[in-house]
Amino acid sequence: MRTVIAIDVGGTSIKAARVAESGEVLDRHRVATPVSAGAGAVVATIREVAAWLHDADVVAAGVVVPGIVDPAAGVARYAANLGWRDEPLVALLQSDLALPVRIDNDVRGAGLAERSVGRARGVPDCMIVMLGTGISAVIVTGGQPMWGGAGMAGEVGHVCVVPNGEPCPCGQRGCLERYASGAAVARRYGALTGAALPAEEVVARQAVDPAAAQVWAEATDALATVLAQCTLVVDPSLVVLAGGLAIAGEALRAPVAAALTTRLPWRTPPELAMSTLGADVGVHGAALLAWSAAPPAG
Ligand SMILES: [Zn+2]
Repeated sequence: MRTVIAIDVGGTSIKAARVAESGEVLDRHRVATPVSAGAGAVVATIREVAAWLHDADVVAAGVVVPGIVDPAAGVARYAANLGWRDEPLVALLQSDLALPVRIDNDVRGAGLAERSVGRARGVPDCMIVMLGTGISAVIVTGGQPMWGGAGMAGEVGHVCVVPNGEPCPCGQRGCLERYASGAAVARRYGALTGAALPAEEVVARQAVDPAAAQVWAEATDALATVLAQCTLVVDPSLVVLAGGLAIAGEALRAPVAAALTTRLPWRTPPELAMSTLGADVGVHGAALLAWSAAPPAG
């Protein structure tokens, strides 16, 4: 059976698997990303993991990585959390594996997975919003993902929701990411209470903890503000919420959907849905990239 190697490089772990054409995930590996050992160690680990998974049935490999990626050149340009610049990952892996290899950024990979095998399948006008450490989106119009003039469409995390609000590392103030990302929810709860809790625990405490309820209400409200703006500009019929914070499920979906309805009183808001791919979204995205590079069967 033909398979591909799929590698999802994150700031914490590298998830890798062989994936069949049916989408079945085989031979999973998960290793810690050696960020503290430097960019060279991260690249070496990616090559090592790919070599473990390589066998006679493998026909291509796909890799998704955070940050700025040039898919046409096959180069991972920049990722602040991995400390790398201009890593020629495709050339390195092609020479190691003697296979076709494709690379893309993790958010576009997740968008590809959601559109191909996930909740957004068959929906020509949709948005897939990744809520993790940061916030970014894939916007699909007329069946085509928007790329933009500089390949930077979908940076909804840096849309201003609070003029003169909290400073953001991007240089602006009041960005969505400063209020509604997983990191922001944890940080803002800590600032109010002095307690260090991860975002998912802040969400779980909202019924019993007024500070948790306040932080979460501000997060979901900020997200709804930006989704309403996006709806007015590109009119998606479906918005899929994915990424680490999406494990909050209905606790995330319900307040955002309600606020979206309030902000769009004169029109039907887009359907709001949670991703069905969970933590596998990156591996599926990498596998789909690999299949797009695979030679025809037979
Ligand atoms: Zn920003």
